Amino acid sequence: MQDTLLRIDNISKIYTSEKEKVEALKGISLDIKKQEILGLLGVNGAGKTTLSAIIATLLKPTSGDIFYNDTSIYKDIISFRRVLGFCPQVQNLDLDLNVNENLIFAGRYYSLSKKQIKNRLEELLEKFDLTRYAKFSLNSLSGGYKQRFMIARTLMHDPKLIIMDEPTVGLDPQLRRLLWKYILDMKKEGKTIILTTHYLDEADILSDRICVIDGGKMKALEKPSELKKVWKSESLEDVFLELIKEKEEKNE
Ligand code: ATP
Repeated sequence: MQDTLLRIDNISKIYTSEKEKVEALKGISLDIKKQEILGLLGVNGAGKTTLSAIIATLLKPTSGDIFYNDTSIYKDIISFRRVLGFCPQVQNLDLDLNVNENLIFAGRYYSLSKKQIKNRLEELLEKFDLTRYAKFSLNSLSGGYKQRFMIARTLMHDPKLIIMDEPTVGLDPQLRRLLWKYILDMKKEGKTIILTTHYLDEADILSDRICVIDGGKMKALEKPSELKKVWKSESLEDVFLELIKEKEEKNE
């Protein structure tokens, strides 16, 4: 389909250790559309991180495939990584380097030329209000600035698809709103965003479609407005809780 950027086809993931076997994903299939924000929701342990990590090529699925522009990403994973930006939680930062150095490193990692790195660096430092902190070590930045830096780093190589793992966790309401604006700006610039969040208000406001994962299966994939209409509720949080409850009842 023309407006499909990524097709996830029957992905399953089983973690095996000597002691146990955990079926984290049980056959997930969905299309991610060009320039959409897809909110990925689920309770703790539902399988969101596993799915994000598989799309980010950090983990291999046990079975299933992912197609980018109708070609399996596993045929040329390096090319796929060039169009992919992964914005993990702030904990995963290299705190020894300063802001500038970290961004230059990201540019080099993606084989950008010196000129491209310089231009991109200036552009992103300005956009995320980081210019005055360019020489600051990441350690010394506040949580809000760390998160701005994370987004800037993700955008260094101008990816088409961005995976964001709980980008506003622990931020005050004002900063959350600012991050929302950045996320919506990225969409306006043509990016496709997979947004993992536990904040239902955030998912409601930002997402074009919501994907609810529960127990490794997809429970819903719909526009937030449609979900609320079907469940006759004004709150996405209530819909989410109903969806989860539905499964618990079925399991009883
Ligand atoms: P959270 O919101 O807490 O981050 P999640 O929805 O991201 O949860 P996952 O982290 O993907 O869920 O975990 C899905 C299931 O797989 C859980 O049962 C979890 O315990 C299990 N799991 C995740 N990583 C591993 C691993 N490396 N080895 C074994 N089991 C794992």
